[in-house]
Amino acid sequence: MQFNILVLPGDGIGPEVMTEALKVLKGVGRKFGHTFNLTNDLVGGAAIDAYGVALRDETAHQARASHAVLFGAVGGPKWSDPAAQVRPEDGLLALRKSMGVYANIRPVKSYPFLVNASPLKPAVVDGVDLIVVRELTGGLYYGQPKRRWSTQRGRRGVDTMKYSEMEIERILRVGFELARGRRKRLTSVDKANVLETSRLWRQIAIELAPQYPDVTVDHQLVDSCAMQLIQNPKQFDVLVMENTFGDILSDEASVLAGSLGMLPSASLAGIPAARSRRRARGFYEPVHGTAPDIAGQGKANPIATVLSTAMMLRYSLGLPKEAQAVEQAVDRVLEGGQRTADIVAQGERQVTTSQMGNAIVEALASAA
Ligand code: NAD
Repeated sequence: MQFNILVLPGDGIGPEVMTEALKVLKGVGRKFGHTFNLTNDLVGGAAIDAYGVALRDETAHQARASHAVLFGAVGGPKWSDPAAQVRPEDGLLALRKSMGVYANIRPVKSYPFLVNASPLKPAVVDGVDLIVVRELTGGLYYGQPKRRWSTQRGRRGVDTMKYSEMEIERILRVGFELARGRRKRLTSVDKANVLETSRLWRQIAIELAPQYPDVTVDHQLVDSCAMQLIQNPKQFDVLVMENTFGDILSDEASVLAGSLGMLPSASLAGIPAARSRRRARGFYEPVHGTAPDIAGQGKANPIATVLSTAMMLRYSLGLPKEAQAVEQAVDRVLEGGQRTADIVAQGERQVTTSQMGNAIVEALASAA
């Protein structure tokens, strides 16, 4: 099969981790007989330096014309002057918006050798394997009116939390579909005891549930869910929530994994199907940023970007077998003791960014 992918490595360690992810993608092409047509372009600080803008119109157009976008990270001290007219992050936000990616998916998995890297007790994090699904294009961050103004009795501000049935239904369906392909447990998170949007959310979740009889649904209030994520995270399989709740809880959940260098993400413009080869256009990036402190030193962990590539294979290219092969290759390399600087413990062998990439490619090639 032929697939068109836009590759945007960005700044800092972005190009370093992307090089390794592309090696792995090439390995998938060789092993399974697929052709990945890659278009490379600049974004963020690199685009500002070359073109004076963080995202060119041609790049946004190419993103919409591709099956998927693989993204590194953008930003860094060079472009962080508060007085700057253009900022690298503008490119990222404009791209997500122009692609209409409304479903942000962050899997969080704890690896046995990293349980000590989390500030939580090993017994709490060991065995965690969950996905946070966050609504990405609606709610409080976009609702109008949204403004600040002055009155005779002091300054005022307003943000608006607004959701339509369509917006809620489509993101809940993403949650149901993902749960269906996993342990079949969906936690719908809301604040239905206080917010009207949450009451609508819960109503729609209850109405949709009979269409997914194989999935067990429970409803949690966001405040108690925040506590449960730290107290007993192993109870969760897939969690689905609106934009603001998802922003906060997905960052909280990422602490369970131990290292930023291990966390992938996907943002989708459609529903990923668990049992068919239906495809959703998507945007795939590691959770981490450009890590200026280690850029250019071969210390970056490429696994978050490699696992983001696996998510792309599964959700946008309809290649679940290939995605699983990449994930299993990562697991085997880690079981074999290969560690980049962020996850190495005393007495373990430390490898560089490219050695880690090569090891994953080899593990993929040698798998049955
Ligand atoms: P960061 O994620 O870049 O780094 C935080 C810490 O984690 C650093 O110590 C870094 O060395 C380490 N780290 C991050 N990724 C790693 C990896 N793959 N392997 C090993 N160690 C890793 O966050 P920051 O320092 O707050 O931000 C640096 C720059 O990145 C800023 O300009 C910020 O705006 C930008 N940023 C971009 C994105 C994005 O493009 N999506 C996201 C977050 C931050």
